Amino acid sequence: MRFFENVAKKIFNDEGIAILEGHVVYSPEEAVAVCSEMDIPVVVKAQVLTGGRGKAGGVKFADNPGEALKVADEILGMEINGEKVKHLLIEEKADIQHEYFISVSIDRTVRKPVIMTSKDGGVEIENLAKTNPEKIIKYYPQPLIEFLPYEAREIARKMEVPSEYISQMGDIIWKLYNVFLKYDCETAEINPLVLTPKGLIAADAKMVVENDSLYRHQDLVNMLHYKKKAVDFVKLDGDIAVIGNGAGLTLTAMDMIKLNGGEPATFLDIGGGASEMVISQALNIVLNYDPVKVVFLNVLGGITKADDVARGVVNALKNVDRRVYIVIRLTGTNEKEGQKILEEAGIPYEISMEEAAKKAVELCNELKA
Ligand code: GDP
Ligand code: MN
Repeated sequence: MRFFENVAKKIFNDEGIAILEGHVVYSPEEAVAVCSEMDIPVVVKAQVLTGGRGKAGGVKFADNPGEALKVADEILGMEINGEKVKHLLIEEKADIQHEYFISVSIDRTVRKPVIMTSKDGGVEIENLAKTNPEKIIKYYPQPLIEFLPYEAREIARKMEVPSEYISQMGDIIWKLYNVFLKYDCETAEINPLVLTPKGLIAADAKMVVENDSLYRHQDLVNMLHYKKKAVDFVKLDGDIAVIGNGAGLTLTAMDMIKLNGGEPATFLDIGGGASEMVISQALNIVLNYDPVKVVFLNVLGGITKADDVARGVVNALKNVDRRVYIVIRLTGTNEKEGQKILEEAGIPYEISMEEAAKKAVELCNELKA
C-alpha cells in the first residue's frame, strides 16, 4: 500500500529526517487560511498516489495567500495519471541548491534490499536511470546484520556530497533504511532530498508498505482517516462576508444584512465551540477573498467562548494587507474577557446584532461611494 506524501513525510520526520513545515488542505479557501499563517513563499502540492506530479503540473508555487488560492483551485480537481486530486499539501518553499535522490527498495533479482542513490535527483530520475544508469549508485546492505552508519557515510561520499554534508547525508540514508525495515516497506524514497541553506531536507517522500504487513502497522492505517473540514464556507454574490457560530445565527446575520440593503459575499459557519485557530482561519479566508469589502462577524457565545473568538480575531488581523473593514458583534460566554482583548488591541465591537449589521452595510456603501 502506498501512502500519501504527507503521511510518508510524517513517518520519516518521526525517525529524525528533516522536512519542511506543511499542512494538508481540502479546499482553496483552506489553502488561503493556512498560507496566511505560514512563511511565504509556499509550495502547493497535489496529494496523489502516483509519481510525476511535478511534470503533470501538480506542484506549484505561491508568493502570497491570494496566489495560493489560485493555484490550489487549479490543482484541486485536476487529474494526474487518472487520479483525481482531492487534497493538497501546502509547504514552506525550500530554497534549493541541489536535488539528490535516495531510495531503499527490494531488488527481486537478488532478493535483497537495495539502497539506490544519485547526486542527480529530481523529476528526471526515471529518464536518468534509462539514459545514464551508471549515475545511480547501488548498495546492498547485508540483510541479516545491522546496517552501520559508516556504510551509509560511504554511500554519501560516492554521491559527491560536499564534505561538510557527508555525515548528515549518511545519517539520512541510515535512517531511511531503518524506516524501510521498521515499516516492512517495499519502497522508502526521497526524491528530491534537497540541499538548502538549512541543510538537507526531504522535499518529497514516498513510502509503499507491503500489504501483508499492514496489520502490524495500525498507526499508519489510522493516519489515513482524514479530518473533516474545519469550517463550512459558501460563496455568494455580494461583498459583505458573513461569519457566525452556528447555521441559524449565520443565516439570521445574512437576513439582517439583506434587510439593511446589503449583499452577503459568504455564508461561513464556524460551528459551535470554535477554537481560536478556527476563528482566525475563517477570517483569513474571507479577508483574502477578493470580492469582500466588509466582514461581519456575528458571535453569540454559548459553547463558543468570546475570549477565544477575540484572540482569533487579533491573530488574523495581524497580517492583512488588503483594505477591508471588519464589524464584530461579540456577546455571550466570557464576553467581558473577549471584549477586553479586543479593546486592548484597539478593535471596536458591537453588542447588538441589529446595530452591527446596519454598520456593516453603511461601511460597505461608504467604500463603494
Ligand atoms: P513529483 O514530481 O511527484 O516527484 O513531486 P516532487 O515533490 O518531487 O516535486 C517535483 C519538483 O518540484 C522537485 O524536483 C523540485 O524541483 C520542485 N520542488 C518541490 N518542492 C519544492 C520546494 O520546496 N522548493 C523548490 N524550489 N522546488 C520544489
Ligand atoms: Mn518527487
